[in-house]
Amino acid sequence: MELNEVLRLVRKNIISLAPYSTARDEYKGALGVFLDANENPFENGYNRYPDPRQLELKGIISKFKGVAVENMFIGNGSDEAIDLCYRVFCNPGKDNAVAITPSYGMYRVAADINDVEFREVQLDGEFSFPGKEVLDLCDENTKLVFFCSPNNPSGNSFPMEQMLEFISSFKGIVVVDEAYIDFAEQPSLLTVLPKYKNLIVLQTLSKAYGLAGLRLGLAFADAEIMSIFAKVKYPYNINIAGMERAKELLARDVKSEIELLKSERKRVAAALKEMKCVQRVFPSDANFLLVRVDDARALYDALIQEQVIVRDRSRLKGCEGTLRITIGKPEENDRMLAIVKDWK
Ligand code: PMP
Repeated sequence: MELNEVLRLVRKNIISLAPYSTARDEYKGALGVFLDANENPFENGYNRYPDPRQLELKGIISKFKGVAVENMFIGNGSDEAIDLCYRVFCNPGKDNAVAITPSYGMYRVAADINDVEFREVQLDGEFSFPGKEVLDLCDENTKLVFFCSPNNPSGNSFPMEQMLEFISSFKGIVVVDEAYIDFAEQPSLLTVLPKYKNLIVLQTLSKAYGLAGLRLGLAFADAEIMSIFAKVKYPYNINIAGMERAKELLARDVKSEIELLKSERKRVAAALKEMKCVQRVFPSDANFLLVRVDDARALYDALIQEQVIVRDRSRLKGCEGTLRITIGKPEENDRMLAIVKDWK
């Protein structure tokens, strides 16, 4: 799609929105006597408002993601970016969004909050990419399609060519949630971002970067879309404490942690496959495994008894009889494996 066609998908009131102009938008210098923002002048590290554009943190992220600052949005978790997709593109009570199921629950919750009709395509037993079925469910009011790759809770990635074929043929916005991409064997769609103007890629610092508590989610898209996100978001959506800690913690090298979690994923999957109560361990490109077992609820309870907490996904259509198990540290995984092995 051409950029002008993509911009036509934006709600009219958002296109014409005059955003709140912060004191820091008007004067951008770092030095001076700041009597413009009704702040308290006594320094304590947090008495000034944060940079609403988060340029310093974006600069750091830009280096390791290889994406320009203008193509980036930072939100209070990627959940904020999901909500903004609806607020920017979907007219409440009129437009709709299409997603796959089972997948991440916030796509539906954010649609419901924004009074946007939410349509779902059930994945098959192998959780394969349902491009045609999704396209068939779209109509002229479908503004957004959500894919999650690697998908939560199934753990598999969708083939890149199939996703790209979909993005080329769909006349709306495609949001690809790559929250778990750092654990995946296949490359991120960030590598092709400039070619697809209707693509929004979501990532997060909550998983591989270990910063879930700081709430820093990322969206990447064409600079025009990102500037619309910037005018719709709360002006100071990311606070100084979070940005400062992120800058420090992003200086660590997380590669060895990621490699360890990936090798643990392989080890845990192989060990689970040998166990009597395990029917199937689904292939995973993420930091968790979806496992079908003989009696999911009873095994969940047995694990809880030993203070090992996993996620029971068995009531989710398509995930009957399954538990979703996050890959922990080796000794934590061993503890979980010992309980599953001795069970029944
Ligand atoms: N996307 C997916 C697929 C997730 O599983 C999660 C969290 N579990 C999120 C997004 C939200 O991440 P964040 O912490 O950035 O809000």
